[in-house]
Amino acid sequence: MIIAVDGSAASGKGTLAKRLAGHFNLAHLDTGTLYRALGLHLLRSGATIENTAENTAAAAVKTLDLAVALSPDIRTDAVAAMASVVAAMPSVRAAFTNLQRGFAARPPHGAGAVLDGRDIGSVILPDADFKFFIDADLDVRAERRTRELQGTGQSVMLRDVLEDMRQRDERDRGRATAPLKAAEDALVIDTSAMDADGVFDLAVAHIAASAEQ
Ligand code: C5P
Repeated sequence: MIIAVDGSAASGKGTLAKRLAGHFNLAHLDTGTLYRALGLHLLRSGATIENTAENTAAAAVKTLDLAVALSPDIRTDAVAAMASVVAAMPSVRAAFTNLQRGFAARPPHGAGAVLDGRDIGSVILPDADFKFFIDADLDVRAERRTRELQGTGQSVMLRDVLEDMRQRDERDRGRATAPLKAAEDALVIDTSAMDADGVFDLAVAHIAASAEQ
């Protein structure tokens, strides 16, 4: 079984993907980690959002040590912003495509795979068995992300998180290559007024109903 979970930042897509992986015994790949790892690597090399050219980022992917993803630093908003800048570059996206498809074709464990990201159902795995697109109001997502970042000890303010998220949304939805949008056959879930259990129950019910048909 292959499941694609796409959606905006702090929409709850990662939580849903993890829970689906546990429930159905699937390997899980958080594809945002790939772009964040590249973002962190570039920031550590002295690059900035303003001065990172596509050829620099594409060259960096080739030598990227994915172990950098183990650093807690990849969860900062500065890294998320850099990730969304390099994620708009077609050659960077192309460089990560085989890795993601390979994970789905040969999951490292379990009975299939669940990948979460922005373009899994629309570009990476258009033939996925199930597709979900998770979204929520910007205000709600910014509050969730602020609580999450504060929970990991980062001192952030709602106002700044909201503005970073607004800019990142704009980049992710507005880019020419693989923009954030729901695949036509995805079940769209607005989580603004839902908790994680409600989202998970809805997704599992959708899969069960499709399996019965
Ligand atoms: O999901 P997460 O917030 O960790 O992703 C960080 C950034 O990486 C996103 O804002 C987006 O620009 C990029 N990304 C992407 N495609 C994916 C996953 C993440 O463009 N499949």
